[in-house]
Amino acid sequence: MRVCHTVREVRDFVRAARAEGLVGLVPTMGYFHDGHLALMHRARSECRTVVVSIYVNPLQFGPREDFRSYPRDPERDLRLAEGAGVDMVFMPDDGEMYPPGYATYVEVEGLTDKLCGRSRPGHFRGVATVVTKLFNIVRPDRAYFGEKDFQQALVIRRLAADLNLDLEIITVPTVREPDGLAMSSRNVYLSPAEREAATVLYRSLVKARDAILAGERTPERVRHILAATIAAEPLADLDYAEVYGLPWLAGLDRLEGEVLLAVAARVGRARLIDNLVVKVPPAEE
Ligand code: AMP
Repeated sequence: MRVCHTVREVRDFVRAARAEGLVGLVPTMGYFHDGHLALMHRARSECRTVVVSIYVNPLQFGPREDFRSYPRDPERDLRLAEGAGVDMVFMPDDGEMYPPGYATYVEVEGLTDKLCGRSRPGHFRGVATVVTKLFNIVRPDRAYFGEKDFQQALVIRRLAADLNLDLEIITVPTVREPDGLAMSSRNVYLSPAEREAATVLYRSLVKARDAILAGERTPERVRHILAATIAAEPLADLDYAEVYGLPWLAGLDRLEGEVLLAVAARVGRARLIDNLVVKVPPAEE
């Protein structure tokens, strides 16, 4: 497995690889867990060459967020990537990504006004900018993203379509702990009691899904189930609890088609997110 630190090294590596078949890219911030590995395995099964980027992108963190303390363990990450059959890891530093004079940003409108975009101003501008740069550096045929960050994957689909990027965006289902908690690098922040409490996000989603499957069609009542379930957990502090229509997060008067249930809450130091896609059963005649 090659490790590249500069754009030039990546370009040289990928130029040769592209002649042999599909190139897949898995963008990450490192501190790997089974969710990251699922993306790598999917890429491995579909592409001749698998590239993983590891970069904690300062541009997508707010001034009061956890950029400095974000967990990092590059040596372990490299071992895990190698074990997953990755061909090359790109680990740039900030100077390589944002050299002095850097002034260009990618803004995806509309989709980014809600959910995490509302709670984290500037976050998706940072994500869209770094992902566009990674796409231009690696020029992959396919890029892999987790459904755990559902809004992020949508923002990237939108930007790839709008900017006519010649690549396919693939999304991979959320990998969970046995008790339902979505795997996240930030779970490492949780104390044992907080770790227990953190399952409330998934529990709220399951409860709301079950209500929809039992006939609930009012968005407001579904939001209430999500919010009330999370509010009942003393260690969790609700950020948002929402339901939107898919594919593009439409506001709904009544639930129909495919809907996204999405929640975010702070548990101790960790801001956690989770979501579930529900196919609303058609109304009975
Ligand atoms: P991150 O390192 O947190 O930026 O995540 C890198 C990629 O892994 C993103 O596409 C995430 O959506 C994806 N990812 C993170 N957690 C999970 C998970 N539990 N299951 C599936 N994919 C995930």
